[in-house]
Amino acid sequence: MTENDGALLEIRQLKKWFPIHKGFMRRVSGHVHAVDDVSLSLAKGETLGLVGESGCGKSTLGRCVVRLLAPTSGEIVFDGQSIGQLRSRALRPLRRQMQMIFQDPYASLNPRKRVGTIISDPMKIHGIGDRQERKKKVEELLETVGLSPEHYNRFPHEFSGGQRQRIGVARALALRPKLIVADEPVSALDVSIQAQVLNLLESLQTGFDLTYMFIAHDLAVVRHISDRIAVMYLGVIVEISPAEALYDNPLHPYTISLLSAVPIPDPDVEAKRETILLPGELPSPANPPAACRFHTRCPYVQPTRCTTEVPELRKLGDGHFVACHWAEKIKAGAIEPIESTPIEPERQDPVEAPSA
Ligand code: SF4
Repeated sequence: MTENDGALLEIRQLKKWFPIHKGFMRRVSGHVHAVDDVSLSLAKGETLGLVGESGCGKSTLGRCVVRLLAPTSGEIVFDGQSIGQLRSRALRPLRRQMQMIFQDPYASLNPRKRVGTIISDPMKIHGIGDRQERKKKVEELLETVGLSPEHYNRFPHEFSGGQRQRIGVARALALRPKLIVADEPVSALDVSIQAQVLNLLESLQTGFDLTYMFIAHDLAVVRHISDRIAVMYLGVIVEISPAEALYDNPLHPYTISLLSAVPIPDPDVEAKRETILLPGELPSPANPPAACRFHTRCPYVQPTRCTTEVPELRKLGDGHFVACHWAEKIKAGAIEPIESTPIEPERQDPVEAPSA
């Protein structure tokens, strides 16, 4: 699946585990398995939507990709170069090619800096242009993202949430990156503004030759912007597929449940369909369930195999991969969902886990 001639990014068997420290001596008593053996690739110019509920590891994966975090093991190949284990000095020239847009436009912009400085700082750090050239570039970028060059001297608090996210986009574009990881870039915005920012990102893609990894917690947001979608659950990819095929034909029970919560514009269809409510909470990534990680909440869980054998990602369609032993039977209606109470994950001591 990772074999892709036009790949800009390849992730192979990536793991990011965070140590859990305990007691006075802060000894390591376990690990949070935030990302656990993930492999995927992004073609040049592609948008990959990465979806899963809060705590599933998607943001950690995004941060590993742009090397804000060092992976525990596995490989990240960016534009033909292995970057997973590079140290900061070696990473520096690559940083300009990989940028991140953060979820919270209120927290991600320094309130004491003027917009012009916020956007030009990355260029200054990388030694691009002189002061005048950078100013001209920033003014162009402000226009590109739908703001005005006159906003150059304003402070972030003078802007609305949507405008602040546009400033975040301009800052990400300043170094002309090849890859942008957008970590829930619209989830802090009003629904009416979300579409504007999504449209902006989409319109910039061709002109700036961008590849996007677009992280979101619900499938509605990524539908129109994504070429492919990867669904993540508790540190692993459970389904990956071209976007339309995933919406038309979801095969993993977790994806089916996520999709059942996406609103349908037709009120008659919406009234008839059933939302699948998953029992229980997301288990702790410090102690993920054995075999299929979804088995403690899966409405289709089957005896023995689901709890004893790890389901591999299997190809079940053109570019469509699913990690479920029973995907075909579930799709064919040969297995009925059960009204289940959740299987309790193994009891463990509470831990302070970093957010994934
Ligand atoms: Fe559910 Fe079993 Fe499929 Fe896992 S392998 S998603 S528990 S049916």
